Amino acid sequence: MPVSISALVKQSPLSRREAEMIIERVLGSSRATVIAYPERMLDAAQEQQALAMIVRRAGGEPMAYILGSREFYGLDFSVTPAVLIPRPETELLVEQALARLSSLPAPQGARLLDLGTGSGAIAISVARHFPAANVTATDISGGALAVARQNARALGVPIRFIESDWFAALGSETFDLIVSNPPYVAAGDKHLAAGDLRFEPISALTDGAPGENGLACIRRIIADAPQHLNKGGSLLFEHGYDQASACAELLAARGFRDLCSFNDLAGIARVAGGRWNIG
Ligand code: GLN
Repeated sequence: MPVSISALVKQSPLSRREAEMIIERVLGSSRATVIAYPERMLDAAQEQQALAMIVRRAGGEPMAYILGSREFYGLDFSVTPAVLIPRPETELLVEQALARLSSLPAPQGARLLDLGTGSGAIAISVARHFPAANVTATDISGGALAVARQNARALGVPIRFIESDWFAALGSETFDLIVSNPPYVAAGDKHLAAGDLRFEPISALTDGAPGENGLACIRRIIADAPQHLNKGGSLLFEHGYDQASACAELLAARGFRDLCSFNDLAGIARVAGGRWNIG
């Protein structure tokens, strides 16, 4: 039986906003249209499609996977359960990466590497805002790279994608800036079994290594980055809410200089980094 937008919103167990987002997707309409015409009817097929999405959401599935997309840094990214859902706090890493690239003495052709790119959110956002950069992005997951490639194509940026376990497939290539949002949630952290995280690729969230406090991948990136950095090049990465001092120690012990730490919008230290071989 046909149903109006407002009746469906009212019936749904979801918040008004989430129910409207689902209806927007099913009707292919803008938010403004859905809000302005609450009496508009959905046909039977549209109603079935919307109800199926509402049931998935009521079962806890993240909105981004149900809608198939998530906005990040002002761009619309396709996401599937093969990739981590881009988070607002990761926009801080993009901002800082753009600031580094802009301050390079020769920004034209600056070489950027994004390790563990997932949906490609970081690499693609940087490439869009800094077209002079030459961007390479890696992931160990072929499924993730397929999503990232599709996003790069849809958003019109040329990026070289490489399937690689961190630096393994990069030979002796070097870069001016290396960025990463690696898995950093501690193995066994109770958040992994709650909320949206339950539905995301576990390998994008945690190293799964007991006793490492979530730092195994960050350790590996810090250990190997110097071999892949040009003189004066930088490493910048995202880390967990309680990992800032451990990250600073690891960077200092490896010989990084000009260490930096940036807070996210919640005031939590979230991005760390340093420069290599400043001379
Ligand atoms: N910030 C994410 C979370 O805790 C984790 C992302 C990551 O491990 N890189 O939900």
